[in-house]
Amino acid sequence: MAVTVTRWRLQITGTVQGVGFRPFVYRVATALGLRGCVWNSPAGVVIEAEGPAGALAELRQRLESDAPPLARLAAIDVVELPPAGLGPFCIAGSQGGAERAALVPPDAALCPECRAEVLAPEDRRYGYPFTNCTHCGPRFTIVRALPYDRPQTTMAAFPLCPDCTREYHDPRDRRFHAQPVACPRCGPRAWFIGAGGTCTGEWAPAFAGAIQAGQVVAVRGLGGFHLTCAAHDPEAVARLRQRKRRPDKPLAVMARDLAAVRRYCHLSAAEEALLASPAAPVVVLQRRADAPLPAELAPGARTLGVMLPYTPLHLLLLAAAGTDLLVMTSGNRSGLPLARDNEDAMAELADVADAFLLHDREIANRCDDSVLRVVDGAPLFYRRSRGYVPVPIPVPAPAPGHHPTALGAGGEMKNAFCLVTGGQAFLSQHIGEMDVREGQAFFREALARLSRFLEVTPEVIGYDPHPGYQVSRLALGLPGTHCPVQHHHAHLAAVLAEHGVVEPAVGIILDGTGYGDDGTLWGGEILAGDLRTCRRVAHLGYLPLPGGERAIRQPWRTAVSALALAYAPDEAERLAEALFPGRPARAVLGMVRERLNSPPACGAGRWLDAAAALLGLCLDSTYEGHAATALAEAATGLAPAAPYPWRQEGKTLDLLPAVRALVADRLNGVPAPAAAARFQLTVATATATAAAGAAAAAGCQRVALGGGVFQNPDLLVQVRSLLQSRGLQVLIPRQVPPGDGGLALGQAVVALWRLTPTR
Ligand code: ZN
Ligand code: ZN
Ligand code: FE
Repeated sequence: MAVTVTRWRLQITGTVQGVGFRPFVYRVATALGLRGCVWNSPAGVVIEAEGPAGALAELRQRLESDAPPLARLAAIDVVELPPAGLGPFCIAGSQGGAERAALVPPDAALCPECRAEVLAPEDRRYGYPFTNCTHCGPRFTIVRALPYDRPQTTMAAFPLCPDCTREYHDPRDRRFHAQPVACPRCGPRAWFIGAGGTCTGEWAPAFAGAIQAGQVVAVRGLGGFHLTCAAHDPEAVARLRQRKRRPDKPLAVMARDLAAVRRYCHLSAAEEALLASPAAPVVVLQRRADAPLPAELAPGARTLGVMLPYTPLHLLLLAAAGTDLLVMTSGNRSGLPLARDNEDAMAELADVADAFLLHDREIANRCDDSVLRVVDGAPLFYRRSRGYVPVPIPVPAPAPGHHPTALGAGGEMKNAFCLVTGGQAFLSQHIGEMDVREGQAFFREALARLSRFLEVTPEVIGYDPHPGYQVSRLALGLPGTHCPVQHHHAHLAAVLAEHGVVEPAVGIILDGTGYGDDGTLWGGEILAGDLRTCRRVAHLGYLPLPGGERAIRQPWRTAVSALALAYAPDEAERLAEALFPGRPARAVLGMVRERLNSPPACGAGRWLDAAAALLGLCLDSTYEGHAATALAEAATGLAPAAPYPWRQEGKTLDLLPAVRALVADRLNGVPAPAAAARFQLTVATATATAAAGAAAAAGCQRVALGGGVFQNPDLLVQVRSLLQSRGLQVLIPRQVPPGDGGLALGQAVVALWRLTPTR
């Protein structure tokens, strides 16, 4: 009896292009004896297969169970069709334009197979720093235009040798259609430039010599340059810090492998998975108390930002230097974007680096390392960039059908912009500081590139109405319909959008300073709103910032301001002079009293600054979030029984009673960590209580957390559990950073919703 032949058409959506999905389907279908074809479509991948129903079912099942590591399947739709006598199974070429709508995949870390090849002396890719395959290697960083084919990437400069050509065209090979495929014969090369000029011999021993001599080396990597030096050499680390003018901010390190990470840090299963993921981000880990590391790496910090070698070049650098740990910090001057070209780097980093390790694969799109931390059991973004960009995030659409393309311009610091089109949000790579010309140029270039990839032009533009923001000035200069989106509403909307929530919710938005609707500086906000509108329900009390920006750099000034509000004039003066000897405390008190250049601000970050300074943990801030980090680190692991007193008066959450209690504790010799923990719990309790009240009044069940202050793990967990204990559902940002790196997503979505009528 003849076997009944069935024909299926399977449509697969998700991240299925540029990840080896078609050859995978080819192998499975051929092994199952099926006939038919697989091809890329604008929406994903289509398979037509003919054969016994059992084999078709097996194919469908294995699409999910055995998919290539970088593939992410959103859905598989199956339609049964009449048998058509299909030919032997084949992979159809990309039909013109079919791939244009599909975006470039993100860069992926060195896979285990390639790693083994690079380390195997008999392999033709032994020691080759640009080895990659369909499962790993550069993607976003090398693409100039779509479709994602080799001629459109910076690998176009390297014609394939016969061996690589064979691999590229063989559907059974791991390198079938791997666009960046390369080998020592045909691919990019690395070289070393030291004090004595370009090294004529091998780069690896020259690099090793420089590291062992305590030098700082600028290394060209995947999305830009790193500055590297021996992590175990305190003098080298100090030199790097001094030259980069970065006295205190923790430096990221690259560890040889997971065993090396465990030597220095505690590592949970979730953290290990994140480190070893294809995105290979920097993961902020709790460092071991007995870790043999110089204090210079992260002065005073209990954490360490660690990543694993994510390119073969990095793997080989660590092997050559004979170390398990290298400092790997961004190769830029403070506040400027990453260097990109060899010439730029040599000029920009001339007085920072002693030597350069360069290569000749151009970087099409600069992309900094991503930074995450496992907070409350799941990853939380500190910075979303390499390995995640340009993976889209689905967001709710205001109405069915076509929508204009929306741009969110982002914030002034830690900028990333966002394009929303077709219900998908594409957050850009980390752009950085927008108050410098270089940052603005990077923004324009990255926006033009992403718009071209997506074949869209922004029509509606959400921006921060802060009158001093260069990024907003830039946004207003772009053609389109402009829509101001209040800073903290944008934070709230970003969280709602990533969770697909369109109903009203309450937001606890805690950050440094953002421009408020009334022209004052907000940042300790309890909001109620949705993707269109928002109102302020409550907020932390206002603190004058004596000297404005200067107070942000010098938290002791904000502390003096808190003393001025919390005590009678004589007492405030006595305390200010006792707590900040040698500082012009009296003059600052005068500024506050006379409201001289002391703009009022209610940012949670400013209250944490004041507390950190009052406890002597951080008087001067040398990087953004310095004082808040010092306070959080001091409080780590402590569970205070109760918060300090605070009270709500109208819309104001008054923390001055907590300030008085904290100062009393300090004067009574209570250890600073205990007081820090208690103050933090006060901020958590005050805001969670107010949010619960707002939720009850508004009749909603959801509270969203946003703003950069929620990078603090203890604070996030405290607020989350206080809200949950009141039966509320808590939304935590997991797809984009809670801070200003995620702001643009909220701006774009609000602009889109406001400017699109509901049908
Ligand atoms: Zn690979
Ligand atoms: Zn080759
Ligand atoms: Fe913010």
